[in-house]
Amino acid sequence: MGKVRTVLGDIDSETLGVTNMHDHLLISAGVGVMKEPDIHLDSVDKACQELELFKAAGGRAVVDMMPVATGRDAPGLVEVSRRTGVHIVACSGFHQVQYYTPDHWVYTYPLDAIVDLFIADVTVGMDRYDYRGPIVERISAKAGVLKAATEYHTVPAKTERLFEAVAMAHLATGVPISTHTTYGTMALEQVELFVKYGVDPSAVIIGHLDRNMDFAYHKAVAETGAMVLYDGPSRVKYYPDSALVELICGMVDAGFGGQIVLGNDLARRSYRVSYGGGPGMGYLLNTFVPRLRAAGLGEDDIHRIFVANPSKALSLREVELHG
Ligand SMILES: [Zn+2]
Repeated sequence: MGKVRTVLGDIDSETLGVTNMHDHLLISAGVGVMKEPDIHLDSVDKACQELELFKAAGGRAVVDMMPVATGRDAPGLVEVSRRTGVHIVACSGFHQVQYYTPDHWVYTYPLDAIVDLFIADVTVGMDRYDYRGPIVERISAKAGVLKAATEYHTVPAKTERLFEAVAMAHLATGVPISTHTTYGTMALEQVELFVKYGVDPSAVIIGHLDRNMDFAYHKAVAETGAMVLYDGPSRVKYYPDSALVELICGMVDAGFGGQIVLGNDLARRSYRVSYGGGPGMGYLLNTFVPRLRAAGLGEDDIHRIFVANPSKALSLREVELHG
């Protein structure tokens, strides 16, 4: 059986349990927080309170999707996992352009240096200071996914270069890739880029795809062999839950039930019960899953989407050793 790399160490993938594949427990600093104070999730206590809501609803694992130098808080994630007993998978790789200054090292360092930093995150341990530099002090907690992000309808040249870095780090470590698409665009281009750099599409999880509710498009992405990740339950300002329920049922009927995973991406204080907002991290399992059941989705399919598919998607891949 495979292994999943959590912040407390590698675990057997079959012990992962019910998993939220895209969320944010802590966002401690960075350009994103400066631009949008609502995403400043700096309290370990509140992260624990919030995660207890997910755990009480049956949740057992969360992927924290803050990559390097965007406010990733590796020591905080370790503490939250220890205190709650919930598995946390942390993330390396890079975020959208808006999370970095134009002269940030992700755009100025040589490619090999960036690849080395991603690989060290995954194989040695993440930097206590989130690569804000110049001091790097690695803790024992390692990253278990690599993130890559594109813009709305575009892949800037400086972003394409980072796709190559993520692909190289993936091929060297076997850690899966999980992406940010902006409004669901550029999903097929993301898969094409990774294939160009030698990645098997089955190791790629395409994120935020539900922001573009186009069934034919979702089938086309799934036909590449990539996993599709839906993380918009409760986000009524974008679409009603009914639309996602219908999309998921359609994808299962079309034979793609083995490639769907869910998250909730509640990356704002105003989305967290622990900060006085809502709907909070209990929503995915307490409110959204019953909607899937009511729409006729069977327990086998629900188990696949929340347990079997995440276990498969997060498992470390075999690494080919090149002589
Ligand atoms: Zn997110």
